[in-house]
Amino acid sequence: MGKLIKGKPVADAITLEVKKDVEHLKQNNIFPKLKIVRIGEREDDIAYERAALKRMQTCDIACEVVALPAEISQEDFILKLKSVNDDKTVHGILLFRPLPKHIDEDKVKYIINAEKDIDCFNPINVSKVMEGDETGFSPCTPTASMEILKYYNVEIRGKLAVVVGRSMVVGKPLSMLLLKEDATVLMCHSKTENLKELTSKADILIAAVGKAKMITKDYIKQGSTVIDVGINIEQDGNLFGDVNTDDCLEKSGLITPVPLGVGSVTTAVLAKHLVKATKLSILY
Ligand code: NDP
Repeated sequence: MGKLIKGKPVADAITLEVKKDVEHLKQNNIFPKLKIVRIGEREDDIAYERAALKRMQTCDIACEVVALPAEISQEDFILKLKSVNDDKTVHGILLFRPLPKHIDEDKVKYIINAEKDIDCFNPINVSKVMEGDETGFSPCTPTASMEILKYYNVEIRGKLAVVVGRSMVVGKPLSMLLLKEDATVLMCHSKTENLKELTSKADILIAAVGKAKMITKDYIKQGSTVIDVGINIEQDGNLFGDVNTDDCLEKSGLITPVPLGVGSVTTAVLAKHLVKATKLSILY
C-alpha cells in the first residue's frame, strides 16, 4: 500500500525558516515586500493569489496586488510593469501567466529585473535553471515538487524520473531540477509514443499534464513515487489532479494528493524566494 505524502509539513518547515529570516531582516530595518501583478479575473489566478496573500501574511511579508483589466493594451501593461519593477520598496514580483493572447511575452519577459523575478519569467533566470546555477530563481511549482521529494527523503540520484508535460512553467524546468540532482530524466508530451510503457518504468513519475485523473495505475511502476502537479477545476468546482490517486495509491510507494499536495508548497516556495530576493537587494 502506498503512502500519501502531503504538502503541509513541507510548507510548514519552509514557512518556519522564512519567518526567522523575515524577523532578522526587519530587525535590520529591511521590510520584504511582494507585488503580485494579475491581468483579468481568471479563477485559478485568483485562487493562487488568495493562497499567496495568506502565506505572506503568515510570514509577516507585505504583499500588494496590482489587478489590471483583461483588455489592458500592451503599451499600458508595459508601463505598469516597469513602474512596479522600478519601485525600490518592492523586492519580488509575481506575474500571473499565461498572459492574455494580445500581449506578446517576448516584449515583456525582460522587464522584471532578474533579481526581482521570483517565479522565473526572465530568460536570465530560465537559463540559470538550465545551467544548474542556483544564484537565480527557479519557478515556484517545480521547486515545490523538488522540496517535497527532498522532505520525504526520496532518492533521486541515478533514478529514472519521467516527467509528463514539457511546459516552460512546470515540465521543462522541473526536468532540469531533477537532472541537477542526478536523476536520469525522460520528458514526455502529447506526441510521445507508448507513454504508458515509458511512465511505468519511472522510479519517480511527475504528472504535469492538465488532464484530470489521466494517470491511472497502468501508468505507474510498483513502489514508485508519484508527484501530481495537476490542478484541474471541473465545472462543478471540484478540484482534481492529473493522477487518479485512488486508483494508484495501492501500487505506488509515495504519492501526493490533490488538493493538499504540491499546490500547498508552492506559496511557501514563493515566500522563500521573496526572502532570497530581499537579501539580494542588499547586495546590489
Ligand atoms: P500546459 O498545458 O502548458 O502543458 C501541458 C503539457 O502536457 C504539455 O507539454 C502537453 O504536451 C502535455 N500533454 C497534454 N496532453 C498530454 C497527453 N495526453 N499525454 C502526454 N502529454 C500531454 O500546462 P502546465 O504545464 O502549465 O500545467 C500542467 C498542470 O499543472 C496543469 O494541471 C496546471 O493546472 C498545473 N499547475 C499546477 C501548479 C501548482 O501550483 N500545483 C502551477 C502551475 C500549473 P505538448 O507540449 O505536446 O502540448
